[in-house]
Amino acid sequence: MRIKPQSADVYLKYKCPKCDAIHLAQREETVFPGGVLCCCGYKLRFAPVKSIKLSLDYGVVAQTLDKAAIAATQVLRGQGFDKAEIDMMMKMSDSKLNPQLRNNVEYRVKACLQQFAEPTS
Ligand SMILES: [Zn+2]
Repeated sequence: MRIKPQSADVYLKYKCPKCDAIHLAQREETVFPGGVLCCCGYKLRFAPVKSIKLSLDYGVVAQTLDKAAIAATQVLRGQGFDKAEIDMMMKMSDSKLNPQLRNNVEYRVKACLQQFAEPTS
């Protein structure tokens, strides 16, 4: 029997208008009146999100991650990064990858970590 999820955690992504750094927040955090301080000093104030509606489509899914990306994800998980952080690093590093090194797991891990270290680049 294939089971369906009981619930989901959704991270909202915000881009700092001053330095373009990406910030992740959960819905509950959007109602904090104080906002979030960016590393550049800009104070991000989120529009409060009352609810998030998520719809799931079940069916055959094409694998979107290649083998090196899946292995790199497991390495990063082992280093304590959560799914949202890894997704963000993968997405940001993807366009800058050297095509000849795409299938090298160590290279993919390093490319991801560079995105995490330099969110503004
Ligand atoms: Zn900023």
